[in-house]
Amino acid sequence: MNPHPPLLKKIPSVTLLLEQPEFEMCLADTSRKHLLNVIREVLVEKRKAILSGFEPELDLPTIWKEIGMKLTAKATDHLCRVVNGTGVIVHTNLGRSLLAAQALEQVQTTGKYYSNLEFDLELGQRGSRYSHVEDLLIELTGAEAALVVNNNAAAVLLALDTLAKGKEVVVSRGQLVEIGGSFRIPEVMARSGAVLREVGTTNKTHLRDYEAVLTDQTALLLKVHTSNYRIVGFTTEVPLEDLVALGQRHNVAVMEDLGSGSFIDVSRFGLEKEPTVIDVVKAGADVVTFSGDKLLGGPQAGIIVGRKIYIQALRGNPLNRALRIDKLTLAALEATLKLYRNQEQALRDIPTLAQLTIPLSKLHERAKSLYRLLNKNPAAGITVEIVPTTSQVGGGALPLSFLNSYALALASDKDSSSEIERRFRAFSPPIIGRIEKEHFLLDVRTLQKEDFPFIAQCLKTWAD
Ligand SMILES: *Cc1c(COP(=O)(O)O)cnc(C)c1O
Repeated sequence: MNPHPPLLKKIPSVTLLLEQPEFEMCLADTSRKHLLNVIREVLVEKRKAILSGFEPELDLPTIWKEIGMKLTAKATDHLCRVVNGTGVIVHTNLGRSLLAAQALEQVQTTGKYYSNLEFDLELGQRGSRYSHVEDLLIELTGAEAALVVNNNAAAVLLALDTLAKGKEVVVSRGQLVEIGGSFRIPEVMARSGAVLREVGTTNKTHLRDYEAVLTDQTALLLKVHTSNYRIVGFTTEVPLEDLVALGQRHNVAVMEDLGSGSFIDVSRFGLEKEPTVIDVVKAGADVVTFSGDKLLGGPQAGIIVGRKIYIQALRGNPLNRALRIDKLTLAALEATLKLYRNQEQALRDIPTLAQLTIPLSKLHERAKSLYRLLNKNPAAGITVEIVPTTSQVGGGALPLSFLNSYALALASDKDSSSEIERRFRAFSPPIIGRIEKEHFLLDVRTLQKEDFPFIAQCLKTWAD
């Protein structure tokens, strides 16, 4: 097909559009700059269509209608709710952990009213923002002291910068982790000014490997939890207890980056055994860092617990000011941590833990109830069935644990599974699932109650 250069001349000019009454009408709801950008976008699209050989409508009413539609689409919030049907509980791309109702309430109050964020109500003078969660963290983990920062990457950076700048940090070659989003231990180390001293091999590192490199330049023995992968087979890792004993003999601090720090042993729910924060503190680590929004189920935060002398040093580092935690996060974190005083309550009220531990029979019931809802008004050409599937914890935690679950599997006699996936993703809120064996799957483990009627409503519009 040949393009239609004469048609290009028929595209109205921006100046002409500015003179139409519609321009003033649109200005009632938006800024002149934004409106002009949208007008130009629509005109560029027309031009592209013509150059590709199409003959788009170029009359003014059509163009104004398209501008109006674009304005409406752009008015919806860019950061928006989505329905998570992927079965990945701590989905980093979809916002990791959902907050408990108690945490949300605290966020609302702290955002709406002034607070004692940095005000000591007893003394009537300046207080510390860290005071709100420090005692709770000490109580829950058994550590001597605690500090919270923006995220776990910040926690690791702050610890290395404070304790090991210009000195050596010993790490096993099997633990040089990359976490999604470009957090890599060797690079964080380089940025902090600490010098990485790799020891051992990918699969085996022995205590003697650590011992052999200790000099007066050694500042830290660092253990990194291999959160998102496992080295299996012919392997040896040095237990934390042995590293601690070595550190004590040579007067070198021992730190563990736990990644997804859990307070509850999840192996009793059939998941892989992972050390809890409490275990790691008890084993004698001087500094322990972990995320607030992975298995802990709170807001994005980096939590550091350990010996007082080190935590105090971290707190006094000017970098801490740049990495500091925000008040809304603190509000959510305090409320989440409080729930851990009663483990049953934590398992019930913290969404990440509730989703992780929901019994299979309950998931089956959920799947059946969604199935009934979807079949009330069956969409033409769409088949729905309940299939067994496996969910994942996600968030770079428990990479070997697959949790048995149920999903609704959708197939269509005319659309491919990737077309179904695309259409579900275009709803508002978007519905995100995954494709397995040519079916579009919605895992009920990560769906919320209010998602059910919405999914049914979306499916009803399928033939339209
Ligand atoms: C997830 C993770 C991090 C990064 O934590 P963020 O809270 O995402 O900054 C660092 N180290 C390990 C071992 C992790 O698993």
